[in-house]
Amino acid sequence: MDLGLKGARVLVTAASRGLGAATARQFSREGAIVVISSRNLETLQDTAASIVEETGNAVFTQACDVTDETQVQRLIKNTASMIGGIDILVTNAGGPPAGNFKTFDIDVWQSATQLTLLSAVSLIKHSLPHLKQSTRAAILTITSISAKQPVDNLILSNTLRPAVIGLTKSLSLELGADNIRVNSILPGITDTERIQELAEARAQLNNQTIDEAQSAMADGIPLGRIGSPEEFANVAVMMCSTAGGFINGVALPVDGGWIRATL
Ligand code: NAP
Repeated sequence: MDLGLKGARVLVTAASRGLGAATARQFSREGAIVVISSRNLETLQDTAASIVEETGNAVFTQACDVTDETQVQRLIKNTASMIGGIDILVTNAGGPPAGNFKTFDIDVWQSATQLTLLSAVSLIKHSLPHLKQSTRAAILTITSISAKQPVDNLILSNTLRPAVIGLTKSLSLELGADNIRVNSILPGITDTERIQELAEARAQLNNQTIDEAQSAMADGIPLGRIGSPEEFANVAVMMCSTAGGFINGVALPVDGGWIRATL
């Protein structure tokens, strides 16, 4: 299947590692021109170099903390001038901290809202003038399974991810007339650096090996294993491609069946 992504101009945020980096790599494999961003420019440049080495296609970098609107504005402006516009925007950020209701004061709720919800609002707002000029525009928000089913000890994510889905769905209605598709993927537990760090912490806490801690993380996933970043990225790239051109307003779990809901 031809995904129709050759020459597509793509921006993926929070893409120095993990789901964002895997998604950027997959876009590049399909012939897209990609800009990746995150806070740490050095890591970002290493990631870009590794993608270019594999695919031979141009990958540009721009440091940006997505919680800072001025930096987001600069990112969008520089992206458009580096690659001549924006066809596809993938909004991603680090996850909010773990904890329950009694863990957090209001200031943590505010910074988590900035990180998880307002970063997506700001990225989309400033990208829209460019997306409106594209003939193959798509926005993908990376959220979490917590949007559909609360995850233990993740109250910030459980509260804020559904808001991003509300934003995604509303925008899919509002922007359809501009021929801009808006979708979300809800990743389940996926083997990124973050999950490896969590497994190491869990192994230490419970006196387990890292393998034991990782397989405990897969409890409750019908497939009996956690996902790979490539499995996530394949779906992300397809949903944004012209091959997926009639997918709009969808919140798709990529979770090995973890979410217990019929629809
Ligand atoms: P990860 O391995 O920790 O990578 C996070 C990425 O985000 C890094 O590139 C980091 O780079 C960047 N980042 C963090 N804060 C940022 C900020 N304020 N501005 C810009 N970039 C920022 O995480 P991941 O596992 O790929 O997860 C990505 C997202 O999916 C997170 O929101 C996570 O909560 C969510 N998610 C992940 C899973 C999973 O199992 N992996 C499951 C459900 C949901 P810098 O440090 O250079 O900024």
